[in-house]
Amino acid sequence: MRAALLVTLTLSLRGFAQDLDASPDAGPEAALRDVPEASEAEVTSTPTAAHDGGLLYSADLSDEELNRRFVDDPASLGSMSLGVAEAGRLINGVQMPEGEAWTIVDPANAWGTKETIDALTTVAREVHASFADAKLRINHIGRQNGGWLRPHQSHQSGRDVDLGFFYKDGVNPGSPKQAREKEIDLARNWTLIRALVINADVQFVLVDKRVQKVLADYALAIGEKKEWVDRLFLGADTLVKHARRHRDHFHVRFFAPRSQELGARISPILTSRADQNVLIHRVVKGDSLGKLATKYNSTVAMIQKANGLSGTALSVGRTLNIPIRGPCTQCPLPPPLVVPPRLLPPEPDPAT
Ligand SMILES: [Zn+2]
Repeated sequence: MRAALLVTLTLSLRGFAQDLDASPDAGPEAALRDVPEASEAEVTSTPTAAHDGGLLYSADLSDEELNRRFVDDPASLGSMSLGVAEAGRLINGVQMPEGEAWTIVDPANAWGTKETIDALTTVAREVHASFADAKLRINHIGRQNGGWLRPHQSHQSGRDVDLGFFYKDGVNPGSPKQAREKEIDLARNWTLIRALVINADVQFVLVDKRVQKVLADYALAIGEKKEWVDRLFLGADTLVKHARRHRDHFHVRFFAPRSQELGARISPILTSRADQNVLIHRVVKGDSLGKLATKYNSTVAMIQKANGLSGTALSVGRTLNIPIRGPCTQCPLPPPLVVPPRLLPPEPDPAT
């Protein structure tokens, strides 16, 4: 019974993970990987260390002040990340600015929390400081208001970003199925990973284990401590995790402490602003706009408008923003967030 349940769960997670990212890379051995197929799913990766429920990242704002400003002056609150990465949205998103240390592939979909944008700026400049010609290739972060962004499941709450690899001089990378790990510039990519780990609050990095292997070997070869490298790569509970279809980019999820905490705090008061009184629904088989409108006390027209839908066809698995009238009675809150300490490299041995 338990086994049957597990199989069902695994299968459904696998289905869920099918279109996580654009580039198909399902090698024959991919199904045997160590990391769950739904590795981009928040539910499997959010740290759940409990604390006393006190505010950790937005204690400067009393509830009263927050409620008032949410109605009167929402922009003053800065970015807020609501829900989870695969069913979430973003209020007061920040767009990745132009900069000489990076290239933005799709500016319209390069919106994130302030923490995400700050972290990207920092790590891109770190690499650029070591390699003057290095420009970090920033692909999708998210939409201005977050939410569903094809072809991803995640990238919804302003905390995910896809980063292109740095390649060796003269390499014109082939298809995502090819052995990109042989074409990448190890020094630049390692410097990027190092900066992500040391200079940013990263929840995880997803990349194919073959890419991890060459980066770990490189790090050891240039003298990084093995115990540290082992905590980053190729293990059961490492910061960098294997995922299918991630042989041509790093998928990075950042923590956004203040934005996430504020997002959780405003969720119960969304009803005070009609334009923000929205819940997220993942479409399942049998859903129709009419049914959803009834279920959530919304209307077909409101749902269409909120999601840019012209017709009534719904694709199973995508999420929809559902504007509602009245308080949300079925909006789960993510657990309180406690950002773990960064995985800093060990101190060098004292000189003997
Ligand atoms: Zn991604």
